[in-house]
Amino acid sequence: MRAMVFQGPGRPLALTELAAPTPGDEQLLIRVSACAVCRTDLHIVDGELPQPKSALVPGHEIVGVVVEKGSRVDRFAVGDRVGVPWLGWTCGVCAFCRSGRENLCDRARFTGYQMDGGFAELAVADHRFCFPLPALYTDVEAAPLLCAGLIGYRALRAAGDARRIGLYGFGAAAHIIAQVAVFEGRAIYAFTRPGDAETAAFARGLGATWTGGSDSPPPEPLDAALIFAPAGALVPAALRAVAPGGTVVCAGIHMSDIPSFPYRDLWGERVLRSVANLTRADARELLELAPQVPVRTHVTTFALEEAETALRRLRAGELTGAAVIKVG
Ligand SMILES: [Zn+2]
Ligand SMILES: [Zn+2]
Repeated sequence: MRAMVFQGPGRPLALTELAAPTPGDEQLLIRVSACAVCRTDLHIVDGELPQPKSALVPGHEIVGVVVEKGSRVDRFAVGDRVGVPWLGWTCGVCAFCRSGRENLCDRARFTGYQMDGGFAELAVADHRFCFPLPALYTDVEAAPLLCAGLIGYRALRAAGDARRIGLYGFGAAAHIIAQVAVFEGRAIYAFTRPGDAETAAFARGLGATWTGGSDSPPPEPLDAALIFAPAGALVPAALRAVAPGGTVVCAGIHMSDIPSFPYRDLWGERVLRSVANLTRADARELLELAPQVPVRTHVTTFALEEAETALRRLRAGELTGAAVIKVG
């Protein structure tokens, strides 16, 4: 099979001919149709996340069709369409797994990081962590739901019943979760790179109440802010943008250092927290909710051999919505 393989930090992904993977007892062999590109992929190829699998095939928002099943797989049939998210395996027995927090599992393994992912013609995945996908979406449209959508959803839920929500970084995750938030009757305040009129217009088109540069204050105090951009300097800015009792959620897996800030910016029972990974419950909830909204994903597609170009354009902030590798 053809695959794009990670050769080490600072080196481009290499188009490589690999042997087809063999599914383990609990795994599906999947013919990949589409795989979205996530900022986490950038953090991996830039060496910002420790110890990726060697000769890794990145990609953790996989849509494809089951072509073979392991001996213990009791879900799905050959020919079924499935989605594969970032959470690839958990132990099921640690304190986190037993308390509904499998996203924090001590021994969790992640797709496209510790296990090969979807920048390839074939992939294997544990069936217990795969999901059927809503029929409303084409393969390319569904792919960004599997991480951008899921991490965005987890971040939105972490904001509780906040009504006025700031989104810092209006990329793949924010463009999905803005639609969910508006559907739920919340108001979206979209913070973009200063001067990025195109992204501001995109956010308004998806129902944002207000748009502005990330260096400007909102017109009124917010109830919560979700930070999707990997810039630590946004944390104190977001704390200053929320009202007393408000919550700031950091949704990325990696962020530059947070500059120091005066305690008064946290005072007033403001909450600063992160969200990590996803649970399977998050996936089931979002995949049920998305077609009701209905969430529409805006995607730019790239061929498999163009994965490096997709990463470069994501890094440069040149994309509107999500990038998706179209494999099939
Ligand atoms: Zn566990
Ligand atoms: Zn991701």
